[in-house]
Amino acid sequence: MEKIKTRTIMTRSNEGSRWFGIDYHMNLYKGCSLGCIYCSSRCESYRIENFDEVRTKENALEILEEELKNKKLKGVVSFGNLSDPYNPEEEHLKLTRGALELINKYGFGVSIDTKSDLILRDLDLLSEISKKNNVIVKISITTFDNELAKKIEPNCISSTKRFAVLKELRNAGIYAGVLMMPVLPFLTDSEDNIYNIIAKSKEVDAKFIYTKMGITLKTNQRSYYYNALDILYPGLSKDYESVYGNRNFASSLQYRRLMEIFVNRCNEVGILTDMDDIIRDYKKEIPTNYQMSLF
Ligand code: SF4
Repeated sequence: MEKIKTRTIMTRSNEGSRWFGIDYHMNLYKGCSLGCIYCSSRCESYRIENFDEVRTKENALEILEEELKNKKLKGVVSFGNLSDPYNPEEEHLKLTRGALELINKYGFGVSIDTKSDLILRDLDLLSEISKKNNVIVKISITTFDNELAKKIEPNCISSTKRFAVLKELRNAGIYAGVLMMPVLPFLTDSEDNIYNIIAKSKEVDAKFIYTKMGITLKTNQRSYYYNALDILYPGLSKDYESVYGNRNFASSLQYRRLMEIFVNRCNEVGILTDMDDIIRDYKKEIPTNYQMSLF
């Protein structure tokens, strides 16, 4: 496997903690082999060539340890914005696990996005971190339909298994919910899909579901997605082109109606949908004496 030279692992969040209360982003891997046809990490601005090939960063954990030691703000570190932190290589490389050990050691919080059941291997560490710091896990689920998921997320576990992962996380007391992103116009933007995802999320005690009811369509990401649609659903990319042209974001044509259904149903069953509410709900006060004891 190719190793990339790097001097930094963590970067300060540009969103100023507005995105799930994240303070730092971190990518231990470059590229992802899970194959989602809509993946926004393929977009040109991230400059990841051969995206489907996973690469690691040289001395990633050593660099990370130095960075964690020297950060004044003990905030929430996000795993996996440009690659799934539990991509298949993680099973033997254990970089994500190593980073969680360091995060636990230096008193930071964690935000993880994944579609993999490999996260359950690290339940011990997530539970340990969660006892004294902020932990949030987002399981990415775009459709309740396993056959459709197999087409659009070909190397991922089924949606049914992802709900089972969520259940195990919740049973272990980890704050976790569903990232229903993207929502694909003409494919997953149906009432049926939304109701089913909410029902299954409720069954497994998900704390939240977050969605933007659409998909980004940026350079490179758009062409990869349209090529995949041409194979899976001939003619559909033409519908996208005629409706969305060169727009960078394609909202569902039923955006208002679906958002209303989504928010109302989630409110009825007690699942959070608003970003500020989710942040308020999962972030806890970190005792000052705990922070002090780290030095
Ligand atoms: S798991 Fe995430 S990073 Fe990997 S291909 Fe799918 S959307 Fe992209």
